[in-house]
Amino acid sequence: MYDIIIIGAGTAGLSAAIYASRAGKTALVLESKAYGGQIINTPDVENYPGIKNISGFDFATGLYEQAKECGAVVKIQGVLDVKKEASCFVVSTKRNTYEGRSLIIATGASNRPLGLEREKEMIGKGISYCATCDGAFFKGKDVAVIGGGNTALEDAGFLSNYCNKVYIVHRRDAFRGEPSSLERLKAKENVELVLDSVSEKIIGDETVSGLEVKNVKTGEKRILDVSGIFVAIGQVPQNELFKDLVTLDSSGYVVAGEDCRTSMDGVFVAGDCRTKKVRQLTTAASDGAVAALAACEYVDSIF
Ligand code: NAP
Repeated sequence: MYDIIIIGAGTAGLSAAIYASRAGKTALVLESKAYGGQIINTPDVENYPGIKNISGFDFATGLYEQAKECGAVVKIQGVLDVKKEASCFVVSTKRNTYEGRSLIIATGASNRPLGLEREKEMIGKGISYCATCDGAFFKGKDVAVIGGGNTALEDAGFLSNYCNKVYIVHRRDAFRGEPSSLERLKAKENVELVLDSVSEKIIGDETVSGLEVKNVKTGEKRILDVSGIFVAIGQVPQNELFKDLVTLDSSGYVVAGEDCRTSMDGVFVAGDCRTKKVRQLTTAASDGAVAALAACEYVDSIF
């Protein structure tokens, strides 16, 4: 039996693993894909205090290695079921069943789709949710990035380095992303902001050849002749698995305050999958520490 089972090996989960292991507790991290979570695809992290610039991959790899060196066990196994038993939590994957005295949910969130007709079938044919992964396919071409947050701005900056033209389509005229990133983009000749505009239609039969957008203020429609559409409109949590275990809010986030405690004793939540206002790398790492120390306290209290 592990003291703490952590579900998710992103920034929050791995930070929790570091803190739990350093506190002398046995920690198992279960992850369905690869370690790192969302940040692994970010080309440049420039807002993590103490680190001026690092790639998301290097950042995530550092966390992963640190967690393992501290003694945490990390397994790439997707969790299929979580149950509360009398004295522990039972977590099942396809390959095994694990018991934990406490649980930390750190499942993050996944890419939000635009919800356009044919969006799904055009994935890999011009629709992408990851500029770092797919950007190279669009070298010298025109592309659109949808969204107004940090991801959209970073994606646009990355793509502008080798695409012919990058449109940033945002539904408002104010951006959530960092002003410094926006200013850098505005200074680029091959970047055009298409503001107050929503995406309405994907053009193209076999592959994407355009995007129809509508200005929400004027009602005017415009077709952007692009062969790539990079969707960067935020994330949605994937907490279905926990809906009978802990309270979720109407958007599916695990309800918890800054103490990372959920509605169920012994279950804690860290990072982007919990109810919170600011979702940043720093807050994910911070949640990991808070949740791990709370879980340690809980484990000590029951034995
Ligand atoms: P985000 O900050 O939630 O931004 C999502 C953007 O998409 C918003 O501009 C939003 O518009 C727009 N949007 C949402 N739903 C939409 C829809 N259905 N149609 C059109 N537009 C829609 O998401 P994010 O950029 O992925 O960032 C997630 C978190 O990670 C943020 O806290 C961000 O700061 C952080 N992050 C940090 C770094 C870094 O530290 N280097 C890098 C990437 C991300 P509205 O503004 O109108 O709501």
